[in-house]
This record gives sequence, C-alpha cells and structure tokens, in this order.
Amino acid sequence: MNLSGTYDSDNIFAKILRGEMPCVKIYEDEDVLSFMDMFPQSRGHTLVIPKQASRNLLDADADVLATLIRHTQTIARAVAAGLKPDGLILTQFNGTAAGQTVFHLHFHIIPRYADMNMGRHSSGRMADMSDLKDLAEHIKEHL
Ligand code: 5GP
Repeated sequence: MNLSGTYDSDNIFAKILRGEMPCVKIYEDEDVLSFMDMFPQSRGHTLVIPKQASRNLLDADADVLATLIRHTQTIARAVAAGLKPDGLILTQFNGTAAGQTVFHLHFHIIPRYADMNMGRHSSGRMADMSDLKDLAEHIKEHL
C-alpha cells in the first residue's frame, strides 16, 4: 500500500473499534483505544490507536495526534510500572515499504528486557490469550 490513499474501514483495527473483532483491552475513552498486540514482539507489546480514522501519521488530524501521543505516554508509563521492563521502544510505521501492515494509525509500545531478544515485526506468532489478559491486568493496575 502506498503512503497515500483512502482509508479502508474494513481494516482489522476499525473492526476492533466497532466491536466486530475481540481485543484484550487496556484502556478506552472517547478518543483512543489501547489493547494488547496479538502477535507480540515482546512480553507486553501494546498498541494505542485513535478512534478517528486515518491511515497513518501523514493523514492524521494534528489534534488527534496530540491526544494520541499524550495517551501513549500514559499507557507507556503504566506498561513500565506494571511489567518492569528494562526499556521501552515506541514505533509507528507508515506505508507497506516501511513495514505497516494495518492501515489505521497506531503506536506500538514494545517493552525490552535485558535478557530477552525482541521478536520480529509481523512474525505472525500468535500470543496465548490468557497470557495477554494477565499482562493487561498488570498494566491496568497502574492506569
Ligand atoms: P503495523 O505492522 O501496521 O505497524 O502493526 C500492526 C500490528 O497489529 C502488528 O504488530 C500485529 O501484530 C498487530 N495485529 C495484527 N492483527 C491483529 C489483531 O487481530 N489483533 C491484535 N490485537 N493485534 C493485531
């Protein structure tokens, strides 16, 4: 997919926002939704998405972006407090050539642990749902 184009309302995150697909939720309000990545690159890999539709950073409304990054900081702090990683990576991909696979704007919060390698982006290795729920509970305790 090119950087530009029209928003496809059948993308997986749009379906999650409409409640048509399940997710392991961490936080939701009128502006954003945060949930566990189903194919995590590390223990506690978390996604934060705006409710307003945009494909990526370039077509997003600036106010939506500002709200999104504010919430991303809050959730990253909760991930840090709840899971005690040694570090955190924040990523966001724009366009297929950059690695983007879901065309609804999102930030990845990827905890890093000194003694654990990070998995590949889009590895397709699905997490165990009960593990994800357990991790989400640890994060939510700090929100
Ligand atoms: P992107 O490649 O677009 O930056 O990131 C998309 C992310 O969504 C990937 O990390 C991928 O593992 C995750 N993902 C893909 N499908 C699903 C899904 O159905 N549910 C959840 N929770 N995450 C998904």
